[in-house]
Amino acid sequence: MPGGGKKDPRIGLGPDTLNAELRDELIRHAILILGLEAGEARRLRLTLSRDLDPVVMEALQDALGRFRVDDAGRVERAKQTLQAMETFSAEQAAAVRAVFDERRRDFRARMRELAEGELRYSEGVLDFRVPVDFDVRSPPPIVITDIVSRRPIEGRPLDHWFRDLAADTSRRIDAEVRRGIASNESTAQIIQRVRGTTRRPGGPLLFAKRQAETIARTAVRSVSTAALEEVWSANSDVVERVMIVATLDLRTCPICASLDGASFPVGNGDRPPFHPSCRCVVAPVVAAFDDLGRRVRRSGADDGTRASMLGEVPSTLRFPEWIRRQRFDDLVEVFGRQRAVWIRDGLIDPRELIDRQLRIRTLEELRPLISRRRAG
Ligand SMILES: [Zn+2]
Repeated sequence: MPGGGKKDPRIGLGPDTLNAELRDELIRHAILILGLEAGEARRLRLTLSRDLDPVVMEALQDALGRFRVDDAGRVERAKQTLQAMETFSAEQAAAVRAVFDERRRDFRARMRELAEGELRYSEGVLDFRVPVDFDVRSPPPIVITDIVSRRPIEGRPLDHWFRDLAADTSRRIDAEVRRGIASNESTAQIIQRVRGTTRRPGGPLLFAKRQAETIARTAVRSVSTAALEEVWSANSDVVERVMIVATLDLRTCPICASLDGASFPVGNGDRPPFHPSCRCVVAPVVAAFDDLGRRVRRSGADDGTRASMLGEVPSTLRFPEWIRRQRFDDLVEVFGRQRAVWIRDGLIDPRELIDRQLRIRTLEELRPLISRRRAG
């Protein structure tokens, strides 16, 4: 990364102000990542629908023809059904595995790109926002493989998530088909069972896509968080600690509330997500520097201490307050121009921008609200 003659000459800018700016920047970035999560989840769902459903349905149609054997005795019929079931089971398992393998490779490649982008972004933040003359160090390229393929994401490496979901989906398909046959259901009924419907959300194909969406979201966030911190870790002479910021956790749970503003040594301690759909953000806490850009040692910086003990502003800024601090251009970048205008004109409460699933609301969802307010 480029280092050399700096930058925005704000040497002497207090670490409190600088660290608050870094938090704001990282929160803005986290909102962009929200959009990416939704995009990757959607892509995985759609490609699974495209690839998984037809192969399972084809195997099922073939098998259902073989299951119904009428011209034999009861015992013979049971034997033939059992055989047909075994053939189907092996066929669909192989097909399902092949589809998930393909999706896994594609998704892993996309996560590598994300990791790469996050590393560059994190380096850029240090390079352009920290007004101290130092050469930003890049982590070795191998960290990308480590982050994407080796490190557990919510307990399991990414590859395992895909393999386990494939195996689980096949088991569920078998179980539904057996149940359908046992209760003498029609072909159409068995197909419905396997597909899943809104009334039958546990149907294996629908269930698999929901699970895949969750995996995609979690992976995007974990990869992003890990990549950001790799850069802080490579520059730990400047970045002292990592702070947990719960600003985006609109329904802050007790865990996140208690961790909001807590800071940990780089590469050490707990990181979000702390629970499903946790939206806590990580931000770097940089060391204090004197007017000449020399590092100032502060006392009391110890593991797990709250940031306020470091003499910094606690980060308990909530989402609406954070929005008010943003420049119009930044709001445009994060939310798009139309939403930014509505925020600026006070036509929307910042909390209304994000729904319960913590997705940014579409313009179509927001428009009725806005027209009501304009009318009122
Ligand atoms: Zn949280």
